Amino acid sequence: MSDRLLVIDDEPEFANFVRKVAENCGYEVRTTSSPVEFRRLSRDWQPSHIIIDLVMPEADGVEILRFLAGELSAARIFIMSGFDSRVVDAARRLGTERGLDIVGTLQKPLRAKELAEVLEANHGEEDVVTESALQQAIDNGEILPYYQPKVDLHSWRPVGFEALVRWRHARRGTIPPDQFVPMAEASGRIDALSQAVAAQAVSQISEWQSLGIDAQVAINLSGQNLHEESLADRLDNMCRAAGVPEGNITFEVTETAAMAEPLRALDILTRLRIKGFKLAIDDFGTGYSSLVQLHRLPFCELKIDKQFVQECDRSREARVIVKTMIELAHNLEMSAVAEGVETEDVLHILAGMGCDAVQGYALARPMNAAVVPEWLNEWSSRHA
Ligand code: C2E
Ligand code: CA
Ligand code: CA
Repeated sequence: MSDRLLVIDDEPEFANFVRKVAENCGYEVRTTSSPVEFRRLSRDWQPSHIIIDLVMPEADGVEILRFLAGELSAARIFIMSGFDSRVVDAARRLGTERGLDIVGTLQKPLRAKELAEVLEANHGEEDVVTESALQQAIDNGEILPYYQPKVDLHSWRPVGFEALVRWRHARRGTIPPDQFVPMAEASGRIDALSQAVAAQAVSQISEWQSLGIDAQVAINLSGQNLHEESLADRLDNMCRAAGVPEGNITFEVTETAAMAEPLRALDILTRLRIKGFKLAIDDFGTGYSSLVQLHRLPFCELKIDKQFVQECDRSREARVIVKTMIELAHNLEMSAVAEGVETEDVLHILAGMGCDAVQGYALARPMNAAVVPEWLNEWSSRHA
């Protein structure tokens, strides 16, 4: 993983100058002058480093800092300006107070040598995603869930959130689960990771309850978590201690994980169900399960994998598959949930097919827990 530098500056010539110097220092670089494009890149491209021009005609560097703070960005940020250094220092303090990692200020005009030195000194270490770093991150609370809403297609109400884990790395920015969950599984740290996610989700539910928000939260379990007999008891104790009803939590288990070792999995999943937790079968359609097994396992919900959902508007075959899965879910008395809904078109197709709930960028991206109440208010005012 190389260092990724995102630059926002309204002067294209200056941005190009920064690009050249940074590329020579081994950075991958994207530049933009648009705040909208900046937000998109910051979310989708996950830069490890950011340079912000403080004064631009169409954007305000302070707004951008506020946005990054809201996203819990862990990128290394440089603030740059041709302004009086006091303004730069004030912005720096503001960013730091909001929890951003402001590593330096750059004063325009900037010489290539000076910029190169700063960039060289701030390279991230290679290979940050190591087993010991992950263990430390778990211990230090740098592993935290983001929450993505799930919306009921009959009532059009948000019915819950899926907790999706992120590693908020001090210097590398937000690391997505694909980059560390497999390592956690391979190194025997997946139980600690799942425990950390579950503990945070449970206390989040309890915090939302105190704000009058009764939220369902779905937690992903890895197949490896289904080896440990004590799982159900541990999770149950966690809920009791926090005063959170078990019925507010759904565990999502992939089709492949649930079928890998059917007897053991059946035992643990059944125990979770008996305790009152709900169960969902995740990524449905990507593995293979016999109808008999599917029927025997005590699932409440079937989540249709996004690869089928996303093709729905273009492919008749995908529509047939999705429709069949929805019917299968209903025949087995499960609710059908579609993940990865990115467009209004797909949303309407799913509603027409009798799908029960949807999740996806068309509704909302996974978000930091702090902005959930605001999102809920906005949603209810738009759909009142
Ligand atoms: P998943 O359980 O299938 O989660 C759905 C993934 O789709 C998430 O990716 C989510 O951000 C993404 N997504 C949501 N809506 C859309 C959309 O409209 N379009 C597209 N293209 N993608 C969308 P994410 O957060 O990167 O998670 C990836 C996978 O990592 C998850 O897939 C899950 O298998 C695993 N994972 C996430 N959190 C945990 C966790 O706490 N424990 C374990 N064991 N695995 C986790
Ligand atoms: Ca899932
Ligand atoms: Ca999936």
